[in-house]
Amino acid sequence: MGFLNRYLCSRGMLARGAWRGKALGAAQIAQGRGLLEQAMSKIDVEIVEVGPRDGLQNLDVAMPTADKCRWIAAEHAAGVREIEVGSFVPPKLLPQMADTGEVVAFARTLPNLRIATLAPNLRGALDAIRAGTHKIGVPISVSPEHSLSNVRKTPMQMVEELAKICKARDESGAAVEIEGALSTAFGCTMAGAVPEDDVLRIAEACLRAGIDSLALADTVGYANPAQVRRLFERVRGIAGDKLTSGHFHDTRGLGLANVMAALETGIRSFDATLGGLGGCPFAPGATGNVSTEDLVFMLESMGLRTGIDLAKLIETRKILEQALPGRPLYGSIARAGLPKGFRQAA
Ligand SMILES: [Zn+2]
Repeated sequence: MGFLNRYLCSRGMLARGAWRGKALGAAQIAQGRGLLEQAMSKIDVEIVEVGPRDGLQNLDVAMPTADKCRWIAAEHAAGVREIEVGSFVPPKLLPQMADTGEVVAFARTLPNLRIATLAPNLRGALDAIRAGTHKIGVPISVSPEHSLSNVRKTPMQMVEELAKICKARDESGAAVEIEGALSTAFGCTMAGAVPEDDVLRIAEACLRAGIDSLALADTVGYANPAQVRRLFERVRGIAGDKLTSGHFHDTRGLGLANVMAALETGIRSFDATLGGLGGCPFAPGATGNVSTEDLVFMLESMGLRTGIDLAKLIETRKILEQALPGRPLYGSIARAGLPKGFRQAA
């Protein structure tokens, strides 16, 4: 048993993950379909590529639909099994996302791919359901300043919208997961520090609104690992296993350290963008999600399986280089190359 497993075991976290070589007992199976699927597909940590949404929405050019589809197909071929392919927002606000319906239609032709989209309101969520999305992320900004400038609603008004979305999903009968994504949970470029009690209060309200899962997002790259560990543990106290995912930006170089801190609290799903593309159009300077390649490298070298072929994934950067000429791509592993003798986790 490796260091991390021993560590997680000692903290009582091992039971949360479907770890290598561990047979699942009845109690674990009862923890839910997601865990069982994870175990069956032999994945320890799930990576969600969010580049086609978070990466592209901040650019002042729209990537052609054909290039988006090529990119999604290439990551799927590399083993990525969940991709956030776009967002259902008015094209006037984000013309880069105007083709999301078409992109979802294409993504649906790829086998065993979970398609996520983002929707900030009921109208967008209905479009997402109609398009055949499997998961809808609804961003709720904990910082009132960020929320008002982003969607012209207070956080609690967004929770009311979220409740309408959950109700509409229930009425539609569609098997679509609704994820509440708490953005600016670790700080905000407008408000500065965001009180942890505010995060807990909004998380509780989201759970009451009927969400299936909850994510904590460091939208602007303000988080540090101690804060991440503390906040994930506090939110787990009220959300339990519904707290499933972490979303970190590498704006100040702490992206992977923050992933590590959340991983140690039992989180097994992380968002990332190929080439560290991305940012938030309403948070100036918030460039760069955690790079998917670097995240896969870190986890695989620790013996944690992602199901993603790292060499193939690095190759897919060529699509971005061609489709976005002159745009900076980030990520250390693509620049430095894989270490001699590197092997993926088995
Ligand atoms: Zn983001």
